[in-house]
Amino acid sequence: MDHAGRLSRLRSGLEENHLDSLLVTHLPNVHYLCGFTGSAAALLVADRGSILFTDGRYRTQAKEEVKVKVARIVIARKPPPMAAAEWLAAHGRSLTPVSVGIEPESIAAGLRDRLASVLKGKARLRFAPPLIERARMVKDAAEILRIRRAVELGASLFQVARQKIRPGVSEVEVAAAMEYQARCAGAEGMSFPTILASGTRSAIVHGRASDARIPRRGFVVCDFGVILAHYCSDRTRTVHVGRPSPEARQLYEAVREAQQAGIAAVRPGATAAEVDGAARRVLRQRKLARYFTHSTGHGLGLEIHEAPRLAAGQTQTLEPGMVITIEPGAYVPGKWGVRIEDVVVVTSSGCAVLTPSDKELVII
Ligand code: ZN
Ligand code: ZN
Repeated sequence: MDHAGRLSRLRSGLEENHLDSLLVTHLPNVHYLCGFTGSAAALLVADRGSILFTDGRYRTQAKEEVKVKVARIVIARKPPPMAAAEWLAAHGRSLTPVSVGIEPESIAAGLRDRLASVLKGKARLRFAPPLIERARMVKDAAEILRIRRAVELGASLFQVARQKIRPGVSEVEVAAAMEYQARCAGAEGMSFPTILASGTRSAIVHGRASDARIPRRGFVVCDFGVILAHYCSDRTRTVHVGRPSPEARQLYEAVREAQQAGIAAVRPGATAAEVDGAARRVLRQRKLARYFTHSTGHGLGLEIHEAPRLAAGQTQTLEPGMVITIEPGAYVPGKWGVRIEDVVVVTSSGCAVLTPSDKELVII
């Protein structure tokens, strides 16, 4: 991964925003910028260089993961952000950091106050714009390759689900089989708790696998993803156990068409809201709009939910290299629900679905 390039682009962004340095505390951002994957870290990005603060548990790992020319490593005895602030207070003059950016989403108010008191009179803390999140929206070729691999592995788990889903089997048993297969195939873990929602539970948008037993007849929403080489996958397929009623088929087809319309709307220059609108329109035409209660999709990469968000009012325009999900659904409370989700990468002319697969209703 091109950490040096990412850091140098970030430095230009800091300059444009009149920030002398940035204290990066959101761990996926630290990872993105310097390669460090430990659970305690703060990366101080200044104009003359970068310093990674971590603790003694990560001494060896930090040396392995972070190249010398990318960042210097300081092993701290204090929480890394505090160690960074103390370092700035002691050495700030040589770096002349007057204005230090912090990440508002990852710094709690209490920590911000403690940092400010350490830096009092030496540096001013300012909330930085989401420069790293913006950069992370557009993936480079190496990242797209990793996401593709993760999506391929993730997609293969649906075969496990198809074999395992039977009336009387509990949702957690199905999820456990999928997750076991994921780990055996090299996944570091699941990118979120596996969603397996059967029968009336399928109307719950985020119905985590429970001890409920799969009924003889009804939908089963399976939403699952893996983390492979640090990148996430995300896919939803909805199957039907037993013979579906014409009404169930109609609901499924409406969601399938909405998902297709969403995918068809993805192209460079389209706004996130337009893609959301394209999927929503299909469901509105079928009088199902009120059952589509979430946004159409989200970016993904090092994290399962990243920018951009595909929802009404989102003015972010799509660019080649963005990787997003398209996942409309319809949920009738107390009755049933359907969702279909794929990961797509924005290309120069439209988009490519990562590991496309048949989306005909699977009947078990
Ligand atoms: Zn999902
Ligand atoms: Zn998703």
